[in-house]
Amino acid sequence: MLRTVAAAGLLSAACALPAGRVVETVPPPERGLSILRSSVELFRRSTGRFPRDRVELRAAVSKFGGGKGLPDVKVPEHSLQHRVELYDPSIWRALPAGPASASGPWAEGELEADQLRDSGAWGYEPNSGHAFVDCTHPSDSGRWYER
Ligand SMILES: [Zn+2]
Repeated sequence: MLRTVAAAGLLSAACALPAGRVVETVPPPERGLSILRSSVELFRRSTGRFPRDRVELRAAVSKFGGGKGLPDVKVPEHSLQHRVELYDPSIWRALPAGPASASGPWAEGELEADQLRDSGAWGYEPNSGHAFVDCTHPSDSGRWYER
């Protein structure tokens, strides 16, 4: 719990940079993931479906993700990435419907980890609308793809 609070504080500090100061930094993977997922959800609310490919995903992030386009992603074991690995629906195993989740439809399933390419880029499965970090390496809280 303390770690979560500290991380949230760091994110707030990063967002509170003085206006006009140009800082080209890669957002933490958690922040980029949050942008992707909220963009996918807002796209769904707007159209009634998930972005169906990379082009639509990028368009959704451009429209709903705060105006900066698809964020870069950098996890320790990989180089900086700015692309999306598209996955077949078989990567996503839906779990039996449970209580409604505030975090979105992607919470009710899990990834088939042995099918992941471990590219270090973003991963996206259009059928479920699930966006994730395409990395099977451990993070300080589970593996990156599990976040
Ligand atoms: Zn990895």
